[in-house]
Amino acid sequence: MIAATSSNTSATSTSHPYPHRPSSSSSASATQACAACKYQRRKCNQDYTLASYFPADQQRQFLNAHRLFGVSNILKIICHLDPVQCAEAMHSIIFQSNARAHDPVGGCYSIILELER
Ligand SMILES: [Zn+2]
Repeated sequence: MIAATSSNTSATSTSHPYPHRPSSSSSASATQACAACKYQRRKCNQDYTLASYFPADQQRQFLNAHRLFGVSNILKIICHLDPVQCAEAMHSIIFQSNARAHDPVGGCYSIILELER
């Protein structure tokens, strides 16, 4: 299987496009850098555009998005959008990234095929 290369992404919640979950163990993450800052090894600014979409406990999600789009491209995409569109764009980016991580060959396309069936 081709998917074997990234099957260790533990596709437990990759189908869930939204990063925010009412997790009970997020008390420590309040002081933690968000996933994007942690990856870039920089001081976390909570105003940072990506911080709200990639909280500290969503490192996997960030890596998926970064692998597919690249941080600079994501920022380029959303910096021209108003906040409402920005949120939708980020959800779309995250969803596509997770779909691609879950299915490296088909990505979103296999989901669309499934829906059209
Ligand atoms: Zn941050």
